[in-house]
Amino acid sequence: MATFDVEYDLVVVGGGGSGKMAAYIGAKEGGLATALLEKAPETGGSSVFAEGQAAFESSEQLARKTPPTPGMHYPSRAEGYKRYIDYSHKRANPDVVRMQVTHTAETIDIMKSLGIVYTDVTIYAYEQPTELNSFHRPDGLGAHMQEVLLQATVDAGVDIFTSTPAKQLIVEDGKVVGVIAEDADGKTIRIGAKAVVLAGGGFGGNLDMVRAHSRFARNADALIYMGPEPNTGDTINMALAIGADTWEMQPLMLVPVAKDKSLVAHINGGGSQPVLWVNKTGQRYYDEHVALSFADAANVIAIQPGGASYSIMDQATVQHLIDDGSDIGLGDFVKYHLPLTGLQTELDEAVAEGDMAWKADSIPELAEAIGLDPEVFTATVALYNEFAEDGDDPLFYKDAKYLRPVKTAPFYAIEMRAAILVSVGALRVNGDLQVIGVDAKPIEGLYAVGMDAGGLFGDTYNLDVPGTANGFAHASGRVAARHAIGAIKAAAV
Ligand SMILES: Cc1cc2nc3c(=O)[nH]c(=O)nc-3n(C[C@H](O)[C@H](O)[C@H](O)COP(=O)(O)OP(=O)(O)OC[C@H]3O[C@@H](n4cnc5c(N)ncnc54)[C@H](O)[C@@H]3O)c2cc1C
Repeated sequence: MATFDVEYDLVVVGGGGSGKMAAYIGAKEGGLATALLEKAPETGGSSVFAEGQAAFESSEQLARKTPPTPGMHYPSRAEGYKRYIDYSHKRANPDVVRMQVTHTAETIDIMKSLGIVYTDVTIYAYEQPTELNSFHRPDGLGAHMQEVLLQATVDAGVDIFTSTPAKQLIVEDGKVVGVIAEDADGKTIRIGAKAVVLAGGGFGGNLDMVRAHSRFARNADALIYMGPEPNTGDTINMALAIGADTWEMQPLMLVPVAKDKSLVAHINGGGSQPVLWVNKTGQRYYDEHVALSFADAANVIAIQPGGASYSIMDQATVQHLIDDGSDIGLGDFVKYHLPLTGLQTELDEAVAEGDMAWKADSIPELAEAIGLDPEVFTATVALYNEFAEDGDDPLFYKDAKYLRPVKTAPFYAIEMRAAILVSVGALRVNGDLQVIGVDAKPIEGLYAVGMDAGGLFGDTYNLDVPGTANGFAHASGRVAARHAIGAIKAAAV
């Protein structure tokens, strides 16, 4: 018989959006004695960075009737379901997809009841015809939403232990009965639980796991991690150690980024535009219009030689981005048509630093500065300028309006890499978020939610349904907690 230092009904591991929602529901609706263990000194995780969340047939969508984007409509649950399944090439788990399209709408109502105001419900990348209008943007974005949810969790009576990483699951007779954690003083504590919810936010911060599970192992060293440090897959590994199964572990949410700059930097906004992109061979490699979907764009960049891409522009294009604004946006990080007023200064600073942006008065000199073959690169630029003049790109069929010539010196190059925001492939779960073992049966007492639960994706994060990850985090936390409440109450009678 296992012994414990302290016992709860429900123990939630991880205090991001999914974990806080699970703990809140467990305590508030179920009246469960609930503990939330958080590895970092503060809760929040990657959820504080999210700009919006997906939902289907939400009260906000129903009240607004039609989205601000002309000719578009708000998606039904059936449309959402089909889009997830199709986008994944049938590799998504139908039970998880059904959970997502059914339960995300309630998150919007709960957050509204806690005081959140939704400023718009729209798409993420304007001019992306395949996107569904699922993106619910809260005032104050994810940071405010997590503050509000934290307060609700505290008010519901959840005991929150920060700087307390969970290390291991305690199993008795095949059932999870607790967690071993390390408290803020480094002391090992054994916490008993009738149910455990894993909400550790995936393994994006663990390069070894990225190498082992993602399809970007070859260029893994070139990937930049932009999520929170503690999301190192501990909780996934704790479940694997007791026989849990996985579902499509490989997909990562990637975004192109100007090497080590932040997502809101104007140099990042400039480098993310569909200007001329070349790789280390000095040649174009894709229709740069792929930039409209940051996940697809970063997938493409991540597989280039050395995992690097160079965005090439002349002074006229730099001035266009400063005066007229970005051609495409990156959500709230780089707003659509935002004048990139800081671009020149940031470019000049980065050029002076000398390792991620370069400037030259001629194309061969620019090639030398970047380290590209000058002949190949000069030929690439000449051909691209012909396409720009003709308004026709017979190589990659890029839309003529993005064919900006590279003719007016000085010329610039910005090195772009793929950055990991979060991993989105994880443990195998059923529609109630119970973790499924390699024997195809639910592991009693164990749930995985948020980025610890797999099943929504094939090989790529789905930007056809913007806000998917954050929408999933909150909905999955709630559904898991409700199942746990039911199971705990049933066992008590
Ligand atoms: C910059 C950025 C922008 C994003 N924008 C969006 C967006 O607009 N829309 C969208 O849908 N998604 C977005 N995402 C992704 C989204 O934020 C997340 O996928 C989702 O909210 C994750 O929620 P989560 O609860 O699974 O994980 P998290 O919020 O990351 O929480 C996981 C928590 O678990 C803790 N933890 C980890 N290991 C342990 C352990 N051993 N013991 C205890 N605690 C542990 C971590 O410290 C962390 O607090 C973005 C991500 C980033 C990085």
